[in-house]
Amino acid sequence: MANQPIFILPEGTERYSKKDALRMNITAGKVLANIVRTTLGPKGMDKMLTDSMGDITVTNDGATIMQEMDISQPAARMLVEIAKKQEQTVGDGTTSVVVIAGELLNKAQELLEDGISTSVVVKGYRNATAKALEILKNVAIDANDKETLKKVAITALSGKGSNYAKDKLADIIVEATLRIEEDGVSDIDNINIQRISGDSVEDSFLAEGVVMDKAPLSKNMPKDLKNAKIAIMKYPIELKEINTDTKIDITSPEQFELFLNNEEEMIKGLVDKIVDSGANALFCQKGIDDLAEHYLKKAGIMAFKRVKKSDIERISKATGAKLVTDIEDLTEDKLGSAGHVHVDKIFDHELTFIEECENPKASSIVLRGSTRYVTEQIARALDDALGVVAATIKEGKVLIGGGACEIDLVKQLREYGESVSGREQLAILKYAEALEVIPRTLIENAGLDTINLIADLKAAHEESRFIGINVFTGKLSDMKEEGVIEPLRVKIHALQSAGEAAEMILRIDDMIAAKNALTSTGPDESGNDDSGMPPMPGMGGMPPMM
Ligand code: ADP
Ligand code: MG
Repeated sequence: MANQPIFILPEGTERYSKKDALRMNITAGKVLANIVRTTLGPKGMDKMLTDSMGDITVTNDGATIMQEMDISQPAARMLVEIAKKQEQTVGDGTTSVVVIAGELLNKAQELLEDGISTSVVVKGYRNATAKALEILKNVAIDANDKETLKKVAITALSGKGSNYAKDKLADIIVEATLRIEEDGVSDIDNINIQRISGDSVEDSFLAEGVVMDKAPLSKNMPKDLKNAKIAIMKYPIELKEINTDTKIDITSPEQFELFLNNEEEMIKGLVDKIVDSGANALFCQKGIDDLAEHYLKKAGIMAFKRVKKSDIERISKATGAKLVTDIEDLTEDKLGSAGHVHVDKIFDHELTFIEECENPKASSIVLRGSTRYVTEQIARALDDALGVVAATIKEGKVLIGGGACEIDLVKQLREYGESVSGREQLAILKYAEALEVIPRTLIENAGLDTINLIADLKAAHEESRFIGINVFTGKLSDMKEEGVIEPLRVKIHALQSAGEAAEMILRIDDMIAAKNALTSTGPDESGNDDSGMPPMPGMGGMPPMM
């Protein structure tokens, strides 16, 4: 009995302990970072991804790439999660966050190999992150004037497939974001991007209110309304009670006629309520049946059915209309107004424009592009740019990009590290070294000489902290003058998340997973595509960030 092995885990369970677990997770993180790092910066390359349905995406947006890759290794998935989180909270910096996390893991491995314990590495990294955030806040520049916002937009658009039109797009983005600002906050959900393939990006424009990808119910409804009175409703204009199961006994032709008349009366009654309110344009989130359409048409109302919730919200923001959920509540005071509502055809698309609104807090960008791939890629870049412009409006603090603020950080962190005693110092110095990965990658991706340029860059920082790398000319230059400007919030969030993710991965010293969970690379063949994180002890998802 004494030599009998004892099994506490089910057969087939994989277990990796201590060094094995660590090595496996660090490697996975590094591999992922290496995949996305070639996309960093204006000279970054694109990735072409094909999903299981054969749909193609061409992008160099970190979050999109990782989402489409369908990664299942748990540590790598944690990095995918931080990229997603970065995208959701600040809208940009998704590639950077993963590249930094990967490099932090890489440097941690070097420390571990030198015999430094995980807890010392973690402690050093944590202190270094805190110090780094402090430094960034200190060196940030106060600015949220229009000119700065435009530069911020252009920096985010750089290299995202829109280079020749980025000046125009940046103007549109700044205008759109400023227009929806309320009390210093621009909620970019109030901006929609209407993508229409089939022309050049330069033909994109900012509509003044809301543009909706929908035409009125009937061709015989008005297509051009001045002084529109707008009703928005979440109430179906159709016969509700009667469905296919309802049994009606009709025994005579008179009864049948009465039944039809009743039905007609009811619908007519609903339409009358709309007419009585004074509305001449109706946006209904629910259905409108044929009979109702007929009466609406007769009443000269421009009506839309099954309008998307997001469009309804934006129409409300733009025109001041209040959503009515019961038609009995539809009165004149619920109506919104727009000087001009019109239907126009752009390329082969019928769009409805709700314009000339008084102080609209919603706007729409009509984005043109030669093909669907082009418009999709630029729409993603616009999303990033809207995010950074909104962040800058809100916070009013920016940093200088192109590797400038990172080199500054490296320098100051190194000085800080020197002041810390013991082995923790080594971890802080490695952390500082890791941040060099951003300028180094920008240089690498531009096909330039990394070793020399990094050395020159550091030397140049003795003179000015704004010197970075102009990836277009291949020379060092003042990035502030070049207008390569990014919001503080993006960098802060990236460092914080990258540090937390690296720490979390380093702390794992045991991986126990159900059969095949750790080695499979995607959804398994059984058709079960639930590729979420396998259950792992001590890894109950990510803690809230920021
Ligand atoms: P992310 O997903 O992290 O935002 P990007 O591909 O957008 O990745 O690259 C961002 C990096 O590119 C930032 O470090 C930024 O400073 C740098 N960058 C942007 N424009 C320029 C430029 N014109 N010259 C040099 N670096 C730039
Ligand atoms: Mg970016």
